[in-house]
Amino acid sequence: MSKTTKAVVKKQAKTKASTTKRTANKSVSTNFVYAFGKKTDGNATMRDLLGGKGANLAEMASIGLPVPPGFTISTEVCGYYYDNGKTYPASLSKSVLKAIKQIESQLGKSFGGRSNPLLVSVRSGARDSMPGMMDTILNLGLNDVTVEGLAKISGNSRFAWDCYRRFIQMYGDVVMGVQARSEEEEDPFHEILEKMKRKLKVETDSDLSTENLKALVDQYKSLIRKRTRSAFPQDVFEQLWGATSAVFSSWRNERAILYRQQYAIPAEWGTAVNIQAMVFGNAGDDSATGVAFTRDPANGEKVFYGEYLINAQGEDVVAGVRTPNAIAKLADELPQSYRDLEKVRNKLEKHFKDMQDFEFTIEGGRLFILQTRNGKRTGLAAVRIAVEMQRERLMSQETALLKIPAESIDSLLVPVFDPKALKAAPIIGKGLPAGPGAATGRIAFTAATAEAETRKGNKVVLCRNETSPDDLKGMLHSQGILTSRGGVSSHAALVARQLGKVCICGASEVVINYDKKTLTAGKVVLKEGDYISIDGSTGLIYKGMIESADSEVKRVLEGGLKANKSYTYELFQTVMSWADKHRTLNVRTNADTPAMAKQAVAFGAEGIGLCRTEHMFFDGERIDIMRQMILAADEVQRRSALKKLLPFQKKDFVGLFKAMEGRPVTIRLLDPPLHEFLPHDDVVRRQLAEKLGVPFDFVIDRIKALHEENPMLGCRGCRLGIIYPEITEMQARALFEAAAQVSKGKKAIKIKAEIMIPLVGFRAELADQLAIVHRVAAEVMKKHKVKIDYLVGTMIEVPRAAITADEIAHEADFFSFGTNDLTQTTLGLSRDDMGLFYDQYQSKEIYNQNPFASLDQTGVGKLVELAVERGRQTKPNIKLGICGEHAGDPMSIDFCHRTGLNYVSCSPPRVPIARLAAAQARLRNK
Ligand code: ADP
Ligand code: MG
Ligand code: MG
Repeated sequence: MSKTTKAVVKKQAKTKASTTKRTANKSVSTNFVYAFGKKTDGNATMRDLLGGKGANLAEMASIGLPVPPGFTISTEVCGYYYDNGKTYPASLSKSVLKAIKQIESQLGKSFGGRSNPLLVSVRSGARDSMPGMMDTILNLGLNDVTVEGLAKISGNSRFAWDCYRRFIQMYGDVVMGVQARSEEEEDPFHEILEKMKRKLKVETDSDLSTENLKALVDQYKSLIRKRTRSAFPQDVFEQLWGATSAVFSSWRNERAILYRQQYAIPAEWGTAVNIQAMVFGNAGDDSATGVAFTRDPANGEKVFYGEYLINAQGEDVVAGVRTPNAIAKLADELPQSYRDLEKVRNKLEKHFKDMQDFEFTIEGGRLFILQTRNGKRTGLAAVRIAVEMQRERLMSQETALLKIPAESIDSLLVPVFDPKALKAAPIIGKGLPAGPGAATGRIAFTAATAEAETRKGNKVVLCRNETSPDDLKGMLHSQGILTSRGGVSSHAALVARQLGKVCICGASEVVINYDKKTLTAGKVVLKEGDYISIDGSTGLIYKGMIESADSEVKRVLEGGLKANKSYTYELFQTVMSWADKHRTLNVRTNADTPAMAKQAVAFGAEGIGLCRTEHMFFDGERIDIMRQMILAADEVQRRSALKKLLPFQKKDFVGLFKAMEGRPVTIRLLDPPLHEFLPHDDVVRRQLAEKLGVPFDFVIDRIKALHEENPMLGCRGCRLGIIYPEITEMQARALFEAAAQVSKGKKAIKIKAEIMIPLVGFRAELADQLAIVHRVAAEVMKKHKVKIDYLVGTMIEVPRAAITADEIAHEADFFSFGTNDLTQTTLGLSRDDMGLFYDQYQSKEIYNQNPFASLDQTGVGKLVELAVERGRQTKPNIKLGICGEHAGDPMSIDFCHRTGLNYVSCSPPRVPIARLAAAQARLRNK
């Protein structure tokens, strides 16, 4: 880093001298610098341009809060900086100079001045706050001359030299790149400091004398010279531009990129740079620095929350140099400042109408506010604060709804570890948090062990290198799933999300040895049957058993707890009822079993948008019959297997219809990836041959014959039903027989069945299958003398279907966007193979987001829009829904709302999130 930074500094000096040669093609405004202080140019609404920090500094200055004066260099300059080989617009240096002059005249100080020097901080600040991800430099403007001036005017030379050594350290690290060279190495500045403290036998930094600090400054300077072969700059403007460039550069540091990925912040936004007069929390015992929250960010309670340090500066609080005090103690130590701070707390909440996280510094008993932002909070706190602020009339219902990140509802629903037990538990590893919640149990290395142990009444965590559909049952039986390989779109993660299982995947330091039956994480070796605990919200893996419990909300919904006994439930209910009032999008669920359907209904699902019938065949003896059906060499064999499957299928449908109590139920005809159903190893194949009473060779031959080079693009979906119409016929029969059965008798349920034909790309494909469905429907209705309300439609999951939606709509009563496959086929990318390159794509920011987690709106989304438009051309009232995994993703839900779909259908645990997200989409797009 040091080399590049130096280059930047040099280039900088050049740009300052000459004027810029060219502007990028992008048009940039001519105003790059916005002051705050006596004269304030910006305000809170200008986040895009000024970044969150800059916009709020301006806002605070203009409502009379004590903010040290300064100015913001806009985010446009960041864009320019990267587009133009790390140079600046020509007019920038002049504007900066002017802005510095303004600060000087307000404070009567001068930048680089001998007698009363102005010092500034140079701070990053993006549109959305990215705490700690980018760089900040304090005490800039100090050099060998100004430090003496500061000493004289403050009458405190220790303080002046303390500032100077802090500045050199920060500048050396951030701008000149003097840092630890390996993970094992200590920070070199820190090392020098510690060595000095050891030599002097003192405990803390504040025990160092002026002379000690002077010596430290010398040592720091020579360290910099040794490492970078250049001197620490004495020219304050060189310092200023060096720091500014470093802050702009930090937008692209590794940490910041990772953070952006996590929170879907586009790379184009850029950061602003805030340059602000310093105030000093390290000016004595009536000085302090701290951070505070207007409410408790962990649980949302309305209490003043925060911490501070007396006689300290900025980073000391976070860096853990000394242990900070709880904010309440300030009432004893500096009572007047505490009262001032309380006033600020109230004013901030009243003005910004949200929980604020703010930074303050007290200099000689005078309070200054250095930053405020909407505080990050846990999911629970988000919900509680929104509901309570609405009750306090600080915000409207609409605003309160918009304030809750839709995902945070989930944290009210997932099982939780007992916090005390968690603290005591040893962490042994970390993976990707793939399914939130807490799971504890005995280690099982195979799905079979998991099942057997569960039947014995033991709780297990299934630990695998990776999972495959063969493991599904074992996964269902497990409390949680841990895999050492595979990313956020791996099978394990997918199933976990679908089933609401706790899951950590891709825990790469964990080594699982199936032969030895051991799980090794660092030095810890665990055996099958040993206890392990995983927190799917954090990705942390713990050794041993940790107590956990169902969430209160879940216990209330399932009848185990009285509603009035749980404040969390009250919060949940309040938010859900608001959401239902405001949303227009319906929320359905993807459910394959009556149990899933019931859970989804409890969570508020208004129907089933996708029942994957092949999932009904994974269980018990069914899988063998299913395998028999797949392996059948001719229609006779196939029909005999299908005949055996029919009663199972019918029973399942009856269960589903009952669980849904008259709500619409969408059933997708068989879409089995054939290879997933067929056994992979010879032992199981031999067993299968025995069970089916066929020769082993027959099984092997058939598997060979069915082998597909590219199963994702193979003989699946409606293709299967077209070549084997008897399959479609059996399924239609089972469905209508079930419908007939439950729509008769005393407890008759009014059925709304929606039959969905998968993977259609041609109108003729749909027509072919439609004919079978209608024929069977007529037969069954006639036989039972009932009328069954049903629709037949298709999934739109290949580009051709979207493009020819106007033709297909002639045959279809509804479209359901199967965006998992539509993404695969549009991107030409198999989800299961994405792991090979995903990391690189992520670090190069080629995908802003995993396209399987959040709908690729600019690509796949265009196809969806096209299909909606063309479908409606043919059939204005065609029903439109989405049933891909995207249907549980708030950003994708916003898209669905804007595109005018009728419903989204997501996995049962995501139903509450979808309800909230749908309401937010409506409010946002009103
Ligand atoms: P981050 O975004 O990482 O929080 P900041 O730009 O807020 O970085 O700076 C970190 C800390 O530096 C602040 O919490 C504050 O204590 C200190 N700081 C920043 N600017 C000033 C200033 N003008 N005067 C005194 N301290 C400052
Ligand atoms: Mg800050
Ligand atoms: Mg599909």
